[in-house]
Amino acid sequence: MPIHSTIYFYDVIVVGAGHAGTEAAASAARLGAKVALLTGNLDTVGQMSCNPAIGGVAKGQIVCEIDALGGLMGQVIDRTGIQFRMLNSKKGPAMHSPRAQADKKAYQFEVKRLIEDCENIDLRQEVVIDLITEPTTNDSSQAIAKIVGVSVNGGAAYHAPTVVLTTGTFLQAIMHTGEAKTPGGRAGEGTTSGISGALNRLEFEIERFKTGTPARINGRTIDISRLQLQPGDDLPQPFSFLTKSIDSVQVPCWITHTNEQVHSLIRANLHRAPMYSGQIQSTGPRYCPSIEDKVVRFAEKDSHQLFLEPEGRNTHEVYINGISTSLPRDVQDEMIRHIVGLENAQIMRYGYAVEYDFCPPNQLRPSLETKRVDGLFFAGQLNGTTGYEEAAAQGLIAGANAALKVAGQDALVISRDQGYIGVLIDDLVTRSVDEPYRMFTSRAEYRLLLRYDNADQRLTPLGYQLGLVAQSRWNVYESKQEQVRLAKIALQAVRVGEVPGDKFLKRPEVTWEILSQEHPSLQVFEKSIGQLVEHDVKYAGYVARQQIQVDRQERLSKKRIPEGFEYNKIISLRFEAKQKLTKVRPVSIDQATRISGITPADIALVLSHLK
Ligand code: FAD
Repeated sequence: MPIHSTIYFYDVIVVGAGHAGTEAAASAARLGAKVALLTGNLDTVGQMSCNPAIGGVAKGQIVCEIDALGGLMGQVIDRTGIQFRMLNSKKGPAMHSPRAQADKKAYQFEVKRLIEDCENIDLRQEVVIDLITEPTTNDSSQAIAKIVGVSVNGGAAYHAPTVVLTTGTFLQAIMHTGEAKTPGGRAGEGTTSGISGALNRLEFEIERFKTGTPARINGRTIDISRLQLQPGDDLPQPFSFLTKSIDSVQVPCWITHTNEQVHSLIRANLHRAPMYSGQIQSTGPRYCPSIEDKVVRFAEKDSHQLFLEPEGRNTHEVYINGISTSLPRDVQDEMIRHIVGLENAQIMRYGYAVEYDFCPPNQLRPSLETKRVDGLFFAGQLNGTTGYEEAAAQGLIAGANAALKVAGQDALVISRDQGYIGVLIDDLVTRSVDEPYRMFTSRAEYRLLLRYDNADQRLTPLGYQLGLVAQSRWNVYESKQEQVRLAKIALQAVRVGEVPGDKFLKRPEVTWEILSQEHPSLQVFEKSIGQLVEHDVKYAGYVARQQIQVDRQERLSKKRIPEGFEYNKIISLRFEAKQKLTKVRPVSIDQATRISGITPADIALVLSHLK
């Protein structure tokens, strides 16, 4: 073990204070652990590297789940959002997804303030350069080592029985703008190689992904008279179950489009785009492609929609959503000039792509602890995901599980029917990733159960039981549930002709609002309670059907597979199945069924050997 000038002792060390790291530190602290949150730059805590927005389809539901478990993200965006919209509001309630533009700087300052306010967190500016481990003596686990702590620049070390790594896009990162290559995980910042070295030494599999970001322009130089207005909702919906209402003034966004001139310019310069010149080899997010990628992949389209999104209330900087690029600067300048409304726009920051190391997440247990190193957890972009919400959700779970491990308690694992967080982590650890992972509603087989507005019903009791949810939040939750109960009773009591109110509300054209106009007994309830009851009533039939499937899966998930189970000893099991099961090491039969390439016949063999 290296000699260190100073050693600090903690229960949980979190490396990186981005979206995963801040939630990890906060959840571990809520569980009573003494936490060191170490990050390379204190001025970038909770920074939004790319789009200044939180939520969106399926992501909005994740934010509500984070909030239901006592996390930070929902409250922060409610306080710092500048434009709130409910996406998919014309579709069924399970598809409703809140999204908000953030005041980017206000968002990160609010995250930092909340972290600084936490009793059990020491937030420190430190660059972590190595992981300190020692060989493990625990034969029953597959771990080859156990974590002892981390070394930081300047000769000091931090020791703890658990470490959560949340280093985002910063490991061996290279940024590309045209032919120009610069080391760094985010514009204006550096990269770190020590942690990748340590992960290599510990024989983790490491692969490379890439992501990209568009140019930001000066809002004063946009001709908004030629653009389509995109206003926020009249009645903005909060993300957090603690926020009563959003009263801040909403800022407009604007819509424009690319056109054939822009596309021709891109086609003519493809040889200078790092993705096409061969300069970038790694895979990028398929669902968030660069503009050069869109022009090549969707060659038949002569236009793509662009959203102009202000980065805050106190800046003119505007993010151009939809035109992420790593083309050279001169091409970016020219591209902008061909876009309606942007003819005279000035670029303030150029777009770029970044390539970085990540660790395929099938090296993790469902608790997000690594299989190779006891006490070492991974969360966020390091696990091959993309997006603030996905990162924050993993951070919350990894931080909680680090604290639970220190306390000698069972890990917190959210199931696929309890939340998108469960879907996310199960997908990662069971199926791993071959491209940056983004959450979609279609990934959740029980999505009708997973509405944004019932995230608290699904998760707050669990969070409270564990200690993740404070008493004050629990009191709010209980009083809301009481209101829902009373509203349902009141609804059953009203009659429309001969039909009881709850049966009448099942009709597609009927809403709580319509019913309550004629029935004063319903008017005493807040609009949000009425809407929740309406969604519960309208969805009851579908929910009951999904519940049957959930129960069947739950029976399978109760069939646990012991940690050291030797698949190689099942003679009739196919070679490929033996390999996959040994690699993933599912904790239950339920998880084993979801490994790609594992057939019902393989499962039957495993089941009979378990017996
Ligand atoms: P980050 O938010 O990156 O936080 C990592 C933290 O770790 C940073 O604070 C960093 O300083 C710290 N750190 C790193 N190494 C060390 C060290 N050795 N010691 C101490 N601290 C360290 N997401 C999308 O959904 N869509 C997009 O289009 C998109 N585009 C992106 C474009 C770019 C250029 C970048 C950089 C990111 C993009 N993202 C996008 C991803 C989004 O930013 C991340 O998913 C999210 O920020 C991940 O959160 P995280 O907590 O894992 O990492």
